[in-house]
Amino acid sequence: MKKIEKETLAIHDADHSQTYKIPASLNPPIITSTSFGYLDEEQVVYPRYFNTPNQASVAAKIASLEEAEEGLIFSSGMAAITTTLLTFLKAGDHAIFQRGLYGGTYNFIANEIQKFGISVSVPEENSVEAFENEILPETKLIFIETPSNPLLKITDIEATASFARRHNLISAIDSTFASPVNQNPFRMGIDLVIHSATKYLGGHSDICAGAVAGSKRHIDRIRPMALSFGGSLDARTCYLLERSIKTLFVRVLRQNENSEAVAGYLDRHPGVSKVFYPGLVSSGSYEIASRQMKGFGGMLSFELKKADPVAFQKRLKLIRPAVSLGGVETIICSPVMTSHRHLSKEEREKEGITEGLLRLSVGIENKKDLIEDLEQALL
Ligand SMILES: *Cc1c(COP(=O)(O)O)cnc(C)c1O
Repeated sequence: MKKIEKETLAIHDADHSQTYKIPASLNPPIITSTSFGYLDEEQVVYPRYFNTPNQASVAAKIASLEEAEEGLIFSSGMAAITTTLLTFLKAGDHAIFQRGLYGGTYNFIANEIQKFGISVSVPEENSVEAFENEILPETKLIFIETPSNPLLKITDIEATASFARRHNLISAIDSTFASPVNQNPFRMGIDLVIHSATKYLGGHSDICAGAVAGSKRHIDRIRPMALSFGGSLDARTCYLLERSIKTLFVRVLRQNENSEAVAGYLDRHPGVSKVFYPGLVSSGSYEIASRQMKGFGGMLSFELKKADPVAFQKRLKLIRPAVSLGGVETIICSPVMTSHRHLSKEEREKEGITEGLLRLSVGIENKKDLIEDLEQALL
């Protein structure tokens, strides 16, 4: 070929798939390209088609951690949730959602989903008997979230899955709080397992991502919707997520251990009126939680008897008042001041969310230091 000019040289690289001879690499390369050759490929590869090498690699990893056939990775937990819901629900359909949902999901079903002609029911109780009462001829889907936020209520996963099968419904779960370490709902018969990967899967409070895992048949239905909504994840974040997942088990097992110690400490403290943690026999959830979870997770909530919750948070030296959860550091937040601030006092009372309620996301520090910090702040 004729010698090409510098302007052209500056742009045209060789075909990297041919020229980059990568030495046996322990980690995946980050392929940031948004343009891929197509002539000799089986499929057209493009980030918003959810099929780049980095996307496919991390999605497959999450699917295998959930013992599911396939997965899809999204740019946020909410992208995973809304894309999944709008795949399986259409105008005229009805869906049942459990009580005590993540704020973003609740907002979507309270204020947005009706615009698509979809109706929803949220029964008082998260039991199969209560779900049965909501069944209509047009009911198509049941959505649960366990453990729930912020009161760590536990919904029976196997009972929900068989309820869904009996009525020919799609069953979906937000399993974020448990992570794939503590709970594998697909194996218990749930069709679709959703995670906000921003939390435990990411684990370092520095990436935003979401995931859904299920059978190939169901994931194949979600993919075209995902492609239209466009909530895809970029290669660099895929890489960080994949890297984080390598330490998922080490982190979450430590978080299980730390939160058990912290919950036990708070439960015995005279300044604490109530502790919400599925690992406490007194929680009322212990029996179901022990059956369906391998560990109780790193989340717990508690109510202060008298102390001012803001002053209490300010007295903490190590534990930081901050939003979100699932990171290596222990953080605390007041649901009334954060996730549930838009609810009226009556709505909050109905949900059991009081002014004195505080939610802890327990990290991987030494548990002695965490308990000492709580001790000096509780006075
Ligand atoms: C954070 C969270 C979500 C939403 O995830 P984003 O990544 O913030 O979109 C959904 N469900 C639960 C339980 C969460 O904690």
